[in-house]
Amino acid sequence: MQKRIDCVDLQLIQGDIANQEDMSCVVNAANAQLLPGGGVAGAIHRAAGPELARTCQPLAPIKPGEAVITEAFNLPNDHVIHCLGPVYGVDKPEEELLISCYKKAIELAEKQGLESIAFPAISTGAFGYPLAEGAEVALRTVLDKIPDLKNVQKIRFVLFSERDLKIFQEILSRLINE
Ligand code: ADP
Repeated sequence: MQKRIDCVDLQLIQGDIANQEDMSCVVNAANAQLLPGGGVAGAIHRAAGPELARTCQPLAPIKPGEAVITEAFNLPNDHVIHCLGPVYGVDKPEEELLISCYKKAIELAEKQGLESIAFPAISTGAFGYPLAEGAEVALRTVLDKIPDLKNVQKIRFVLFSERDLKIFQEILSRLINE
């Protein structure tokens, strides 16, 4: 699914966040220590190689809602933006913290003059945020930010499963018809 909103392409696809070769940066659903782990962080660190973890170490730990930017090493992108999402039911207020992740990631991309950014569904894996709730927060935050963008021209959500993609598609359709 692809929508043009103002001058920005908003795309929803099924895929692997570590394999987005046409994007200037990808977002990592990181852990506080910015270490490799499971899920998105595992895929990103595996593809980037060990230099990514070494580069991250002086920047860690980060707090829920924060974002930091690094090089991308062996990934096909220029940069990785590492966001720590809230653990659902633990880090509160979770919605504000999740909004902050998406906002800060877009602000970092914009500040670096990057043209495109790809997001996973932050917090919706090991951190337990229900997918539909996390999708709504993600899409609303991105839609709110689009009018401010000067550099970022393309925003992509990379969803892992067909079901997750379908949920994002339904919520985006609803939000843009509101
Ligand atoms: P968190 O700890 O923030 O919940 P996870 O990495 O556990 O992060 O999961 C976040 C979301 O990313 C989940 O919906 C999960 O299914 C999805 N996911 C896991 N691996 C990948 C991948 N390689 N590419 C895109 N999405 C992924």
